Amino acid sequence: MNILALNCGSSSLKYQLIDRTTSTPLASGLVERIGLDGTSLKHRVGDAPATRRALAKGDHAAAIAQVLDLLATDLPDRPVAAVGHRVVHGGRRFARSVVIDAEVLAAIEELIPLAPLHNPPNLAGIVAAQALMPGVPQIAVFDTAFHQTMPHEAYTYAVPQRWVEDLDVRSYGFHGTSHLYVSRRAASLLQRPVTALRLITCHVGNGVSVSAVRHGHSIDNSMGLTPLEGAIMGTRAGDLDAGLIPYVQSRTQEPYERIFAALNKESGMLALSGESDLRDVEEGHMRGDARCTEALKAYAYRLKKYIGAYAAALGGVDAVVFTAGVGENSALVRELVLADMEYLGLHLDPDLNRATWNGVERAVSPPDSPVRVLVIPTNEELVIVEDTVALLEGRSPTDPAFRYSFESAGQAAIR
Ligand code: ADP
Repeated sequence: MNILALNCGSSSLKYQLIDRTTSTPLASGLVERIGLDGTSLKHRVGDAPATRRALAKGDHAAAIAQVLDLLATDLPDRPVAAVGHRVVHGGRRFARSVVIDAEVLAAIEELIPLAPLHNPPNLAGIVAAQALMPGVPQIAVFDTAFHQTMPHEAYTYAVPQRWVEDLDVRSYGFHGTSHLYVSRRAASLLQRPVTALRLITCHVGNGVSVSAVRHGHSIDNSMGLTPLEGAIMGTRAGDLDAGLIPYVQSRTQEPYERIFAALNKESGMLALSGESDLRDVEEGHMRGDARCTEALKAYAYRLKKYIGAYAAALGGVDAVVFTAGVGENSALVRELVLADMEYLGLHLDPDLNRATWNGVERAVSPPDSPVRVLVIPTNEELVIVEDTVALLEGRSPTDPAFRYSFESAGQAAIR
């Protein structure tokens, strides 16, 4: 059975066609600049080198249609049996993945005010895929679902109850699919049941979120009502005093929409260093650019605070996991974040941390470190595919007896 995992962003579309029996990607790719001039498609079949091509300017439906054409041409004997969609905001309503019907579609649409940048393209992708593949089951996998286990004290904001009751104001947490994946993999690598572990998982990519995962359940996440809260990100500010918004508004007369856009798109590392891509910030730091050095220190400091806070929330920690573009690749960020945390039992082995990264899961703490530090490449698509298959077979991935294939699969235990 071949499952297509789709992730529609505002101007991008990521896809993977995965054979569920082997969990291997048959094809994968990325469409960029959807709706803009210069739309391009990077497409890869199996292990073959990726090819790039230009696409005519069009909407998400046009991009998905082109991808389906390509898949049908390149893999004619691999029909798509079902589609799993990444949906960013599931609100209070979705604590697990679901088969999409008219009611689910309406609920995702109703949640747009909570995720105005994310749910509309997710929805466009679902509507397009339904139209292009009539009769093919479509499943929604929510970024927020894994965090619905957060307790009230973690998700509540101390704000007027009418906002909570009428507007669903609370913290939701994001990147849940990634936090779920790496926490289960960590347990597998440590050869301990996830139900016995206290984990801090750091998803450090363009978007950044940290989670406290106790006994397999998320008990806190650094992102909040929207993905703007928490750590410093590529272009998002992360935590700040809400008083900043009326202050800037009163001094500049800018409308709040403009200020909100600036906090999402012109802040974070871009504001601090002039660069949003961590590779460029690191290069600047190596060249001696003081702005980049200071930006990296602020970035690491914020992450360090979350790790400290979550160690307290968890009552101790067994392992800290780094994942996503920066978390997997940046030895420098890991080093800055974990510096001087030995008092918590957190040690980094400088050689293991700096060793050339070959994409394989590994420990970067010394073997005798009381708290393990793991680097685990995330694989949200695999969760999407396995949730899709489970739902089609009438099983629930949130059933305590349910096991993902990646919970047992794997290399030998990590030292
Ligand atoms: P997204 O959140 O968009 O899925 P990714 O997880 O792919 O993003 O992470 C993108 C980030 O990872 C970028 O800031 C990029 O600079 C950073 N990154 C990728 N490779 C490296 C590397 N070798 N060193 C430092 N940062 C890296």
